[in-house]
Amino acid sequence: RMAKKDGLEVKVYRAEEDPFSLRRFMLLSELRSALAANEFVLHYQPKANMSDGVIDSVEALIRWNNPREGWIMPDEFIGLAEQTGMIGELTHWVLKEAVTQAKAWADDGAPTRVAVNLSARNLLDDGLPDYIMGLVRRAGIAPEWIDLEVTESAIMSHPELSRDMLLRLSAMGFSIAIDDFGTGYSSLAYLKALPADALKIDMSFVRNMAHNADDATIVRSTIDLAHNLGLKTIAEGVEDRAVWDLLLAYGCDKVQGYFIAKPMGSGEMQAFIRKK
Ligand code: C2E
Ligand code: MG
Ligand code: MG
Ligand code: MG
Repeated sequence: RMAKKDGLEVKVYRAEEDPFSLRRFMLLSELRSALAANEFVLHYQPKANMSDGVIDSVEALIRWNNPREGWIMPDEFIGLAEQTGMIGELTHWVLKEAVTQAKAWADDGAPTRVAVNLSARNLLDDGLPDYIMGLVRRAGIAPEWIDLEVTESAIMSHPELSRDMLLRLSAMGFSIAIDDFGTGYSSLAYLKALPADALKIDMSFVRNMAHNADDATIVRSTIDLAHNLGLKTIAEGVEDRAVWDLLLAYGCDKVQGYFIAKPMGSGEMQAFIRKK
């Protein structure tokens, strides 16, 4: 993982990325059996509408309950799952779980859109659109209840194939959000050609925007750009009232972050959306 500052690239040591580390070796071998052993769980984090404060959508975030280490966060194993080719199977599990949950909330009288994160490799899987459509059909919910989040850098790793895939998913009725926007070097011409519904502004610009005029300018301009292209905006990493107030003044559509709520289990989320 590269940390970039003033054009200088600094390599940060991460055991799970070091091909020779013992931990990476152990996590890799454990990952293979983790699905069958039911060790993954989805947590959900609400997204609030800025106009009325209503919470009608959440993001599903995967966690791994590893028997040896305890809870492991996705940044530590999604990359491994991608390298081993396990990401296809893992994403199928996440989608299935998310669709089941969306159906349960709808049946419970609290219909809530559930967003699932796709990784770069998923965008090359020709069978993905039919797989998702099959889940949604069998659950008896409309595709509109499932949002798909893809990072700008994942899209840019295969711009043409990714665009084709997103066009297919979008034509089926799934909403597409470009995640971690502002960090992935896409051009405006390319952005215009993507079938996206929303931009999620990366938290690196959002978190300190109340204390950093440059960050505030970047966020405000991104919101304007998105709106001028007909896209909604979601700010991630909203941690305090000062940031909320600025985003409201800038016309941001939705916010997500610890200021509203941290990711939580489905039971807790159920109680949370009932209170909305
Ligand atoms: P993301 O999609 O950008 O998700 C937002 C991340 O920011 C989550 O971290 C969330 O817990 C964290 N976050 C939310 N609000 C705040 C805040 O106010 N402050 C701070 N500091 N952090 C906040 P998490 O759950 O560790 O996930 C990290 C990344 O892992 C996600 O980033 C996403 O790219 C990836 N990921 C998570 N679940 C999945 C999955 O099911 N499939 C795939 N392919 N990737 C996933
Ligand atoms: Mg996301
Ligand atoms: Mg994000
Ligand atoms: Mg992010």
